[in-house]
Amino acid sequence: MATERTLSIIKPDATRRNLTGRINAALEDAGLRIVAQRRTRLTQAQAEAFYAVHRERPFFRGLVEFMTSGPVVVQVLEGESAVAKNREVMGATDPKKAAAGTIRAQFAEDIEANSVHGSDSPENAAIEIGFFFGQVDIVG
Ligand code: ATP
Ligand code: MG
Repeated sequence: MATERTLSIIKPDATRRNLTGRINAALEDAGLRIVAQRRTRLTQAQAEAFYAVHRERPFFRGLVEFMTSGPVVVQVLEGESAVAKNREVMGATDPKKAAAGTIRAQFAEDIEANSVHGSDSPENAAIEIGFFFGQVDIVG
């Protein structure tokens, strides 16, 4: 087990419903530490670049539209096995399939407006953290 960092995004459906604090509490209760955080509004170019791996998927246009529809909170989480731990506390992509007690089971509206993003591997975490934060922004 090693201390890792992962990128988390509180998505527009959640900021719209004023859920930032409750989601942060769920992350902290799971043992994750918020070591950088910024509220921002993604431009279309940023959302397209961030989700470039999904470019060919049928939901891509809708996803970009959703992710630019309101403020997001981008954050770096730190802890033991932070990537996997965050995925666990987030729950499955589709809230109907998310385990009870997970953030998506509690808060997500549907498979698209699913309240949070989390990096899916340590390699992608490093890339995604670099997308939003410089070293000086992260205080562990
Ligand atoms: P994320 O990458 O946001 O942490 P994830 O890894 O659980 O979520 P991905 O398969 O990477 O899911 O999909 C990225 C995002 O695209 C999802 O979180 C969701 O917002 C949206 N999405 C995924 N599948 C669908 C779908 N079938 N219909 C609509 N939107 C979808
Ligand atoms: Mg993903």
